[in-house]
Amino acid sequence: MPDGVKNYVHLEFPSDPENVGVARVLVASFAAQLDFTLEEIDEIRVATSEAVSNAIIHGYVHSPGMVSVRVNLYENLLEIIVEDQGVGIEDIALASQPSFSTDPERMGLGLVFMDSFMDKLEIDSAPGRGTRVRMLKSPQQTAGRNRN
Ligand code: ATP
Ligand code: MG
Repeated sequence: MPDGVKNYVHLEFPSDPENVGVARVLVASFAAQLDFTLEEIDEIRVATSEAVSNAIIHGYVHSPGMVSVRVNLYENLLEIIVEDQGVGIEDIALASQPSFSTDPERMGLGLVFMDSFMDKLEIDSAPGRGTRVRMLKSPQQTAGRNRN
């Protein structure tokens, strides 16, 4: 277990769109072990869905494969790592631009949502090798705020 990790889970599943909801539920229930508000949990849910959807839709656009979702809980920090061994991203900066998509039918907003809903977003990707998305979020401890 990595240093400081209090609890963790590793889920692997085939790139079937049905599994986006499975990953979302798993991550949300794990996140609930920290002091997140319901709104923050919703943001984590969306970020997870977007990352897993990207792995399935874009990573495995040509042929199916496995998606890995790791969730690590630290004292006051949630870490989510979503990985695929799919086609990879040619230009990460370009892919991260709002409205950029390699699929004209899509909005190109998934990475924007992940970036705005999480405290930190790191993308590691290589064409032909796959993509690793790491997201971090801590509960916001605003004084006087209503806790859920
Ligand atoms: P939306 O998320 O709004 O449905 P989108 O998926 O195209 O549209 P983003 O999630 O922001 O938008 O991703 C932008 C682009 O980055 C994608 O169009 C795709 O080209 C590339 N991309 C993102 N994730 C992956 C991945 N796991 N593997 C390969 N390419 C990816
Ligand atoms: Mg997307």
